[in-house]
Amino acid sequence: MSAEFRGSVITPSDAGYDEARSVFNGLIDHKPERIMRCVDAADVAAAIAGAREAELTISVYGGGHGVTGSAVVDGGVCVDLRAIDHVVVDPATRTARVGGGASWGSVDAATQEHGLAVTGGRVSTTGVGGLSLGSGSGWLERAFGFTCDSLVSAEVVTAASEIVTASEESHPDLFWAIRGGGGNFGVVTEFTFDLHPLGPMMLGGMLLYPGFMAKDVLRNWRDFILGAPREVGGGVALITAPPEEFVPEAARGMPAVGVIITYAGDPEEGARVVAPLTSFGPPAANLVQPMPYVAVQQLLDAPNPKGMHNYWSGDFLTEFPDEAIDAFVDNVQPPVSPLTQMIVIPGGGAISDRTDADMAFGNRTAPFNMHYLSMWPPDPTQDQVNIDKTRQIAAALKPWTTGQVYLNFIGDEGVTRVESAYGSERFARLREIKKAWDPDNVFRHNQNIPPAD
Ligand SMILES: Cc1cc2nc3c(=O)[nH]c(=O)nc-3n(C[C@H](O)[C@H](O)[C@H](O)COP(=O)(O)OP(=O)(O)OC[C@H]3O[C@@H](n4cnc5c(N)ncnc54)[C@H](O)[C@@H]3O)c2cc1C
Repeated sequence: MSAEFRGSVITPSDAGYDEARSVFNGLIDHKPERIMRCVDAADVAAAIAGAREAELTISVYGGGHGVTGSAVVDGGVCVDLRAIDHVVVDPATRTARVGGGASWGSVDAATQEHGLAVTGGRVSTTGVGGLSLGSGSGWLERAFGFTCDSLVSAEVVTAASEIVTASEESHPDLFWAIRGGGGNFGVVTEFTFDLHPLGPMMLGGMLLYPGFMAKDVLRNWRDFILGAPREVGGGVALITAPPEEFVPEAARGMPAVGVIITYAGDPEEGARVVAPLTSFGPPAANLVQPMPYVAVQQLLDAPNPKGMHNYWSGDFLTEFPDEAIDAFVDNVQPPVSPLTQMIVIPGGGAISDRTDADMAFGNRTAPFNMHYLSMWPPDPTQDQVNIDKTRQIAAALKPWTTGQVYLNFIGDEGVTRVESAYGSERFARLREIKKAWDPDNVFRHNQNIPPAD
């Protein structure tokens, strides 16, 4: 190991090893040979060089929320970024510098101190690193675009342990690739994001309906969202009603539909705009109200605890006609696990302000993004039935898919699916850029884009 390394090294004999190697998905049990907790870019460079010298596989740990568990690697070196978690906001230029191991909770808190925000993950513990490099979908995407649309520059440690800046001016090919291409091209130790005025108060929350209303609720929501202004965000999730006080007693533990509503503008105007949703039903519970943006960003924290078993898939849809809604509901209900969330996320608005050629991430015209999120308590006897159910739902919706997929929402489904996230043209360009920056595929423990031949 390099003498220059200033962070800490955690090995299997250390007390904190099991905690340090744990990730969000409790199905993952990877045991790295060492976890290199880096404090800056120079540490990351040293950790990469040391691992390469020892011929050990490298993994990169941002926030540990990748459902494949790629943050940790059996017998290899985990380049752990969690101590590089600074968030420095410059209100004058409306930008934020964010450490590669920060989580969205700290970005939201720091930016909201200035009434600013950038599209971030829907669960505040999610890492900025993996989410942004995979492009970054969040409640604000119809208003401000995906997270990567607000990326101005990044400090990147390359496979050759060089520290470079990627931006429109500096290494534009690398900058193109990291906006959607994942962790394939280097380790990002600092992101600089453009920020947008928002909040602190906004309209947000959920309408909850009994499961038997799912088809009608989805049809009403679909018809509304296809013509809604870009300020409206949210989605619809087929879930199980939680045992919470706000849920009528008879509905608790039963199949339910959650319509999540966000409005990135004046809350009063928002309430008028979303009236076709809030007046539908009526819902069993209406929790839509003015609330701080940081609270909107934590709405889904409680239903997404660390350590549960997770199996995910997804697809972009070309349309969501009545037959597709029927297929969706009929295959989801009844759910196998009460923790499972089958989610429809709307496209449109600022997402389609950019073109597919602008950066690695494309898929900008799909009207809906499906996220099949199966989650269950850590009981191995339940693994296969939940995995099978997820695949069954995904298969039922195949007739309406674009053929492309949002990589942040899927598990390990092979290189063909990685290619299908980009389409053959952008995938070929990504492979060329990979060859230029990482010809030996040092960063391969991820949704891998192999170097061009
Ligand atoms: C509860 C939950 C909610 C989620 N919500 C959303 C959502 O709303 N929108 C969305 O788009 N996605 C969402 N995701 C998916 C999420 O974006 C991906 O799982 C993402 O990879 C998580 O990033 P991470 O840094 O936490 O993960 P990690 O597991 O640490 O990283 C995953 C991979 O990303 C790469 N990586 C991470 N950080 C860096 C870095 N700084 N430099 C280089 N490579 C890096 C590495 O290849 C790593 O293996 C969610 C996931 C969970 C578990």
